[in-house]
Amino acid sequence: MFFYNTLFRKKEKFEPFNPSKVGLYSCGPTVYDYAHIGHARTYVFVDVLKRVLEYSGYKVDHVMNITDVGHLTSEADTGDDKVEKKAKIEGKTAWDIAKYYTKDFFDMTGKLNILKPQVICKATDYIPQMIKIIKQLEEKGLTYVISDGVYFDTSKLKNYGKLARLKIEDLKEGARVGKNKEKRNPTDFALWKFTQSGTKRQMEWQSPWGVGFPGWHIECSAMSMEHLGETIDIHTGGIDHIPIHHTNEIAQSEGATGKLFVKYWLHAGHLLVEGKKMSKSLGNYYRLKDVVDKGYDPLSLRYLFLTAHYRTEMNFTWKALEGAQKAFSKLKVQLATGNLQLTNKKEKRVDSKLDSQVEEYSKRFRNYLNDDLDMPRAIALVWEVVKSDIPDSDKYKLIIDWDRVFGFGLAGQEIRNKELVISQKVKGLVKEREKLREEKKWEEADKIRKEIEEKGYLVEDKQEKSIIKKKPRYDL
Ligand SMILES: [Zn+2]
Repeated sequence: MFFYNTLFRKKEKFEPFNPSKVGLYSCGPTVYDYAHIGHARTYVFVDVLKRVLEYSGYKVDHVMNITDVGHLTSEADTGDDKVEKKAKIEGKTAWDIAKYYTKDFFDMTGKLNILKPQVICKATDYIPQMIKIIKQLEEKGLTYVISDGVYFDTSKLKNYGKLARLKIEDLKEGARVGKNKEKRNPTDFALWKFTQSGTKRQMEWQSPWGVGFPGWHIECSAMSMEHLGETIDIHTGGIDHIPIHHTNEIAQSEGATGKLFVKYWLHAGHLLVEGKKMSKSLGNYYRLKDVVDKGYDPLSLRYLFLTAHYRTEMNFTWKALEGAQKAFSKLKVQLATGNLQLTNKKEKRVDSKLDSQVEEYSKRFRNYLNDDLDMPRAIALVWEVVKSDIPDSDKYKLIIDWDRVFGFGLAGQEIRNKELVISQKVKGLVKEREKLREEKKWEEADKIRKEIEEKGYLVEDKQEKSIIKKKPRYDL
């Protein structure tokens, strides 16, 4: 299995520290606002990664943090705390804001069939662990205190910026870090920020250096060490985390332990919307709710995400989503047919050529997963299988197996998805119509087709078979 490791900018053979168990840490959301479809893409990527590892036989320990404190409006350790700022705007407590948007986040991931991590940890629950790491860094002489907080001295660490390949000498004060004149180096960052004198924050704690709150990055070092140990196998995040957040996580963790922090860094690419960066002012800022309100199935969005490689910059368009929804519906109908055949027939397999063809498809599927999660090719393979000559029941078995990775929830689709639940009455009408068609009584057959359609179903004639499906509530 090969993954593209951002640390070395190349695909590397995946070898976890423990041959059967993988430690996976994912940077989670900052819970001060609704998650948008760009976030959705990143977490679908993480979910597919986890599913691929499990499909390949690994046990995965997956940890994800919830940032409910310390993420400031400026990456330069200045500005307001995003959660506290939102609390003021909405007239609620910071704790309520965090709770509300955390719930919204998991509502979204649930609808996208994203499996929940084994450990979901909130930054505010790990303040003692963060203070402990800052103390370790202090003892090693890697920190200094200025008027607004405790800072990490990045000049003291060899290899600072190795993940982002930062050229420290090229960084100009102001370009990256704002205008903090007290900082020793432009790349230095806050480990602990003091509550400004004369003010009171809703979220603040005692520390050896004064009352305040943690910097954003330290939480991920503290929580990953607490749950996965000092060195972890895989760490994920969006590509925008590379230059600052992940760079600083490495600095703190490796500074404190003297050990490698992460073996494989995997990053998801940006999502553009209609060719532009998503922003509220451009009116191209969408949540999953917008997708659902327009009549699309959240899993059609998941399908769409899988048609692009996770590292590429992907362009979301409504037209593309429509195409994905059509393809996804078609796939569900195909599976319902295959399942029907599987349950109705006891097949006798005598054709060994067919078995080897099925085996070949399985092999290719695994090869695509092992090549840095090549989901676009895996999805294309699904359609190759659908169009192939192998029996529908074999197609069903293959695709249901692969769905452990895709996460479309295809197994038992005919029961779970109302789209495909067909009443006995309608089944009877379909049979009657097929008989009339055999007898070439086209007019009468057409009348029955209309009757079926009035009951909310669509009939597709495919060679001799009629495929029946529920009329979608959206326009296909
Ligand atoms: Zn993080």
